Amino acid sequence: MINIVLFGKPGAGKGTQAEFLKEKYNLTHLSTGDIFRYNIKNDTALGQLAKTYMDKGDLVPDEVTIKMLESEVDKNPHSAGFLFDGFPRTLAQAAALDKFLESKGQKITATVALEADDNILVARLLERGKTSGRPDDQDEEKIRNRYQEYNEKTAPLMHYYEAQNKFHAVNGIGSIEEVTQRLSAVIDKL
Ligand code: AMP
Repeated sequence: MINIVLFGKPGAGKGTQAEFLKEKYNLTHLSTGDIFRYNIKNDTALGQLAKTYMDKGDLVPDEVTIKMLESEVDKNPHSAGFLFDGFPRTLAQAAALDKFLESKGQKITATVALEADDNILVARLLERGKTSGRPDDQDEEKIRNRYQEYNEKTAPLMHYYEAQNKFHAVNGIGSIEEVTQRLSAVIDKL
């Protein structure tokens, strides 16, 4: 069983790459952003709460996010492994995930980061915002706030996973196929 954390700033291509990797390695793809957006679309209580944070580009509180993620994992008891996309985003989430997996006799196999320059990513997100319909992609101020959240709360996770010898990074700039190949080269060696 392999459990992979796909790591990277907003716009780095995590969602795009996850679509390929989940097929290739037979993994259950869990994107917390997608799950929140699904809840917003269906106007659930969770969606209404998440929306107040997401629309500003703020992170949704840990307690809510962790509970939701754990319940999604529990919905897939026969999974051959998970591909976590957009989770964990804080140290508290990473620690909770380790503890949760450990309680099931599992662990994170590796974290793979997609690296790219901020200015390229902001331009990519603004471009995506023209068609994605996502309010958090359409306003440069919200996008910059998402980067600030990333730098303050998510970037420290690199050290968390480095300390466990689980952190790998690949260049996220290139064609979709090129980046998939770089990620696969890392995963194949695990
Ligand atoms: P994403 O689709 O991964 O870019 O996530 C979109 C938004 O959903 C983020 O800006 C946050 O508001 C929220 N979100 C997604 N994943 C998390 C998480 N792990 N922790 C807190 N908020 C999250």
